[in-house]
Amino acid sequence: MYLPDFEYYAPDSVQEACKLKAEFGPRAMFFSGGTDIMHKMKIGTLAPEILISLKNLEALKKIEYVPGKGVVIGARATHNDLVNSEILHKKYMSVSEAAHQMAANQVRNIGTVGGNLINAVPSADLPPILMALDASVKLVGTKGERVIPLEELFTGVCKTCCCDDEILTEIIIPDQKMTGSTYIKFGLRRSGALAVAGVAVAVEVDKDVIKDARIVLGAVYITPKRAIESEKFLIGEKISDELLAEAGKISCTECKPISDMRGSAEYRQNLVEVLTKRALRKAIDKGHV
Ligand SMILES: Cc1cc2nc3c(=O)[nH]c(=O)nc-3n(C[C@H](O)[C@H](O)[C@H](O)COP(=O)(O)OP(=O)(O)OC[C@H]3O[C@@H](n4cnc5c(N)ncnc54)[C@H](O)[C@@H]3O)c2cc1C
Repeated sequence: MYLPDFEYYAPDSVQEACKLKAEFGPRAMFFSGGTDIMHKMKIGTLAPEILISLKNLEALKKIEYVPGKGVVIGARATHNDLVNSEILHKKYMSVSEAAHQMAANQVRNIGTVGGNLINAVPSADLPPILMALDASVKLVGTKGERVIPLEELFTGVCKTCCCDDEILTEIIIPDQKMTGSTYIKFGLRRSGALAVAGVAVAVEVDKDVIKDARIVLGAVYITPKRAIESEKFLIGEKISDELLAEAGKISCTECKPISDMRGSAEYRQNLVEVLTKRALRKAIDKGHV
């Protein structure tokens, strides 16, 4: 499996990278960790004439806490950067834990969070937990920059609203009142498996009452999907096993899974019911986000 020929650029700034992309148009692709691009080029489903590497954009690798803004994750941070980040351990352990459930070490060492979001595969592991934590993303292009809720980035299977010359530069997790969060994924192997279904939850709990809840379902819709009805059902209610079980039942009416080699639609719906209940219990019992 040889790679097809391509031209290669490695600009030193975001502006330069965007300018190159605008100049070359659809003949070119941004290249970050390359875990998706290289695979597709090798099997012949992708043949960009030009690759614009983001590897010199060192500033995009930072994970930092910015007072008044929140935790800012550079789009070039790798999955293992998320796994090992002390800031995330302190603020959002659930994000490190979600990244740890992805792929194997080799892929986690080079695959990036930006690539995972822009790839927009429905089974991707990072979008659900980041959406549950109300994250937004910064997109920078030749015409300026914009910050949008992560939820609005995804428009379909492997589709986003990121324009052709735009680079996703950072993911922002705002300060919040949520008291617990988690992501639970079900794969067909114990490690290195893609999600058959995944559920992320963030809750704000005060004295046994759910004050706020965000539930995001992965791999069971064309995009990561908020389980809005289930969230509404929980808010203001006293926590009980029955309540969480009912929330699970409601969640499974809010997805529209496909049947494929990893599982049938019905099986995925059952998974959503069970994983929602478990994720809610875990997020409630954790007592920290
Ligand atoms: C063996 C294997 C196992 C895997 N397991 C999992 C798994 O368990 N869970 C999971 O979620 N994923 C998994 N993946 C998928 C993959 O690792 C991720 O999607 C990865 O995060 C992609 O990031 P990258 O930097 O490698 O992207 P690249 O391959 O470099 O790029 C992917 C796409 O994103 C675009 N892009 C990249 N960065 C940016 C940016 N900053 N701004 C704009 N566009 C950008 C590229 O142009 C391209 O279209 C697996 C992949 C492999 C090969």
